[in-house]
Amino acid sequence: MARWSGGCACGAIRYTCEGEPSVMLNCHCRDCQRATGSAYAAFVLFAKAAVALKGEPRYHKVVGGSGKPIERGFCPDCGSPLSVKLDAVPNLIGFHAASLDDPALFKPAMDLFTASAHPWDLMHDYTVKKAGGLAG
Ligand SMILES: [Zn+2]
Ligand SMILES: [Zn+2]
Repeated sequence: MARWSGGCACGAIRYTCEGEPSVMLNCHCRDCQRATGSAYAAFVLFAKAAVALKGEPRYHKVVGGSGKPIERGFCPDCGSPLSVKLDAVPNLIGFHAASLDDPALFKPAMDLFTASAHPWDLMHDYTVKKAGGLAG
């Protein structure tokens, strides 16, 4: 069984990823806040080629904090936010950290868009902080 696996709340969509993530991060941009209804989105990103999906997330396309389009995938049956595809890094696909079967595997290396973080938001002291996106 793959170490990195997960799915939506109802189980209609499942994924497994071979190897280790490319990057793990918390994004505090306004778009992630709205999409998650929370302070930030915790994402684990994998090479698309390493990911096997069962079921089809429905994608909602928006302009992300970077100014580039991003597609947010959610389960059409239970509505769980699940995945993200970013024009800025087209070879990667991200999954919400809490969708992992073992969420304890998540260890963020960076916090992005800290400029739009709220006073009630909390961050680890060990992460790299960027006021903007991955490139900024
Ligand atoms: Zn579901
Ligand atoms: Zn974001």
